[in-house]
Amino acid sequence: MKNKTFYYLLLTIGFISIYACGGTKQATATKKINNSVDKVVDAAINEQFEQFKENFLSNYWKANPSHAAYVGLTDYDTLLILPTAENRAKQLANNATLLKELQLFKNKGLSLSNQTDYSLIENRLLSSQWYAKEFKSYAWQPNSYNLGGKFHRLLGNNDLPIAGRLEKIYILLEKVAPYYKAAQQNIDNPTVEHTQLAIGQLQGTVAVFQKNLTDAASAIDTLKALSFTKKAYLNRIDAAKQSVLKYIHWLEKDILPTLSGKTARSFRIGKELYNKKFAFDIQSGYTADEIYKKAIQEKKAIHEKMAKITTKLWPKYFETAAPEDNLVATKLLIDKIAQKHVARDSFVVAIKKQLPELVAFVKEKDLLYLDPAKPLEVRETPVYMRGVAGASISAPGPFEKSRPTYYNVTPLDHYSAEQAESYLREYNHYMLQILNIHEAIPGHYAQLVYSNQSPSLIKSIFGNGAMIEGWACYTERMMLEEGYGNHQPELWLMYYKWNLRIVCNTILDYSVHVLNMQEKEAIDLLTKEAFQEATEASGKWRRATLTQVQLCSYYTGLTEIYDFREERKKAQGKDFNLKAFHEQFLSYGSVPVKEIRKLMKK
Ligand code: ZN
Ligand code: ZN
Repeated sequence: MKNKTFYYLLLTIGFISIYACGGTKQATATKKINNSVDKVVDAAINEQFEQFKENFLSNYWKANPSHAAYVGLTDYDTLLILPTAENRAKQLANNATLLKELQLFKNKGLSLSNQTDYSLIENRLLSSQWYAKEFKSYAWQPNSYNLGGKFHRLLGNNDLPIAGRLEKIYILLEKVAPYYKAAQQNIDNPTVEHTQLAIGQLQGTVAVFQKNLTDAASAIDTLKALSFTKKAYLNRIDAAKQSVLKYIHWLEKDILPTLSGKTARSFRIGKELYNKKFAFDIQSGYTADEIYKKAIQEKKAIHEKMAKITTKLWPKYFETAAPEDNLVATKLLIDKIAQKHVARDSFVVAIKKQLPELVAFVKEKDLLYLDPAKPLEVRETPVYMRGVAGASISAPGPFEKSRPTYYNVTPLDHYSAEQAESYLREYNHYMLQILNIHEAIPGHYAQLVYSNQSPSLIKSIFGNGAMIEGWACYTERMMLEEGYGNHQPELWLMYYKWNLRIVCNTILDYSVHVLNMQEKEAIDLLTKEAFQEATEASGKWRRATLTQVQLCSYYTGLTEIYDFREERKKAQGKDFNLKAFHEQFLSYGSVPVKEIRKLMKK
């Protein structure tokens, strides 16, 4: 889901990755950097290009203040672009101008790093045009208008004195009503699913006004020289809250009941939009169709590996003979092994406890340098971010490198006993370790620390989702290969189940949006062939109805990284060093794997 109004970069395996950059996610796979690697680098041109990048970014931040806040820039905090048709037209014109300016640098002797920046910027601009003109989610995703994150983040920004934050909040509050008025005018035949999501998530936004912002008012009495009174502040909160409630109410009463019958928009985006979105968002060397076909084959291969482990482990767990059908036997064994899990009230604590163990392993095996000065804090997921995410990482942006990275874990208290049991079996003793590798060490957390050190701001800012998710998935396999968990077959079996999940994510997403897969078929795929628990499977179905393409990023990224490493190993023979490979790979920032390949081969 690309949600204009979420400000945290959420990276999750089980759930939705939300980028701060809204409908303007970068990239196109159609654009190729020119291969003139050996062309003479022209210093003057590169100097000019640096200036262009500065100009591009300052334009970009003004048009995307939410993304600016997400990366830690506070100068744009009080900007809120009203989502009007007029502003969209302005933005398109502005993009077109920037694109022309950019293209003056084409084939002009840019350094390799600048060629990559060129490609990222061009992708960003083209993608942004496409989202505005063709994809038009502003009309059919009512959930894209959610200011909860913006206010929550601003209020929680401890780098600014509280008085400054309250001043900014006071200015912003006045824009909430016109914002939702414009939003309302944009909505045109939305999908039922996105309308329901909006109604649910915006309750959380109301709570941010009602609770967080209101609580902050208590500070006003002790502060001097504020430009407003406590009463005026509270009045603005109330007016803002009312406008959100009005929008929710309108969606519930005037819109939702009209969304049925033949003219109702389906959440399935269809082949044409899907292929285009895949090319823009993933930036893989593969087309959507090719990745889908690869995933179908991979599923088969994994099933065979799992069958082997099952045959070996079966007598350890069962006295009776295994069923003939390999999938059935594997499923029974997984269920048995999954019974080993933490208690529901120690879920968060168990995650906290495991992180130092992962750090120690990475050090002992010399896999990657981890900077001890970059803290990782496990916290309960803030309420307004809940609803779709079970575990996720909120990373600091490149301008706020001192801010801790948060590992958000949603406690299970909103679950019934049965739901909690199902969830805990899914994230059992073995799986929880893989989750922590993926989300934290040496997965997302470690990668994002490196990404923020990237010498190129463009590369730090316009991160490629497939590279980011691919890295996290790559580290799972790499850690196991290096002996994390002492090669226990149970851990490998669970790993394959997890791996199967990303393979099936790809199959599911493509099938749902392009091949009209129905819910029952989807649930069968996930439960029978990917061995998922009911809660996980229905959550994944829901995610596939709310997002498009992003579910493919994991498998696509993993495949590209793993293959690249194997190629390097072969080419370098005994000179190959895993730690050096990892550190160099991560040093360029979160750019598409195919770009990293070029940079590393240089
Ligand atoms: Zn992830
Ligand atoms: Zn249990």
